[in-house]
Amino acid sequence: MPSGDDAARREALERALDEGWSALESGSALDAVQAAVEVLEDAPDFNAGRGSVLSADGRVEMDAGIATGPDGRAGAVAYVTRVRHPVALARTVMESTPHVLLAGVAAERFAEERDLELMKPSWFVTARERERLARATSRASSSEVGGGTVGAVARDSAGALAAATSTGGTRGQLPGRIGDSPLIGAGTYADADCAISATGDGEAIIRTVAAHEVAALVRHTGLQLAEACEQVLRDRIEPLGGGAGMIALGASGEPAMPFTTPAMHRAWRVGDDPAQIAIANER
Ligand code: ASP
Repeated sequence: MPSGDDAARREALERALDEGWSALESGSALDAVQAAVEVLEDAPDFNAGRGSVLSADGRVEMDAGIATGPDGRAGAVAYVTRVRHPVALARTVMESTPHVLLAGVAAERFAEERDLELMKPSWFVTARERERLARATSRASSSEVGGGTVGAVARDSAGALAAATSTGGTRGQLPGRIGDSPLIGAGTYADADCAISATGDGEAIIRTVAAHEVAALVRHTGLQLAEACEQVLRDRIEPLGGGAGMIALGASGEPAMPFTTPAMHRAWRVGDDPAQIAIANER
C-alpha cells in the first residue's frame, strides 16, 4: 500500500539513486546496492531502519539480506532492533563469517564487535508509525499492514550483479516474526543471470521462494526476466492471496519492476540515460 509523503519518498529515492550510482562508479554492484539501501534505511518515510513499521508490542524489528552473482554469495540478518544499517550488517555477515544468516541479540553483538553503528531501539520508532499501529490495532484490520520495504539491484562494469533488501516487516506482526527479505531465494537473490529484490506479502513470497523462482525460470526456460517476474507474481504469489512487487536486473542490464500492489515507489538509471522515478503504474 502506498503510504507516507510521496514528495519525501521521491527525494529519498533520488538520493539513494545518486549514492548508489557514485558507489557503482568507484566500486562494485555490491557497494551500489548497500549505499542505496543505507540511504533508504535512514529515510523515515520507508519501512526499513528508522521509520520502520512497528511490531505488535510497539517495537521495531528489522531484517535485511544481500546477495551477489555470479559467485552466489549471500548474507542476512533478522530480528535486529539496534543496528542503524541492517544491510551493512548483512554484508558483514556475508564477507566475514562462514554463515549466511545471523539473528537477534547475537547479531547485534556481532555488529558491535565489527564497529557497526548501533542506536537505541527508540531511535527507530517514529510518531507516525506509533499512530498507525494504534489505528491498525483499534480497527483490528490488517488492511494497512505495511509496504515501503526497501531494496536495490545493480550491475557493475565487470558484469557482477547484486541485490539487497531491508525491512521492518509488517505492521502489528507478532514479535519475532521474520519476513521474506533476509531469506535468500525468497525476498532477495542474485546469481550470474539476475538479481532480484522483492516486497509485499512476505509469507506468500516465502512460500513461493519467489526470487529464486524468477531466477530458475530465467535459467531453465529462457524466459525474459520481466516475464519471469510477472509470471511469479501472477501465477504463484497472487493465488496465495498476496500482493507483491519486484525490482530485478538481468545480465544485459535491463531492469524489470513489476508489481501487483497498488503502487511501488521506484527509481532507476541505465547507462547514460537520465534517472527516472515512478510510483504507481505510470510506465
Ligand atoms: N515483505 C516484507 C515482509 O514481509 C513487507 C513488505 O514488503 O511490505 O517483511
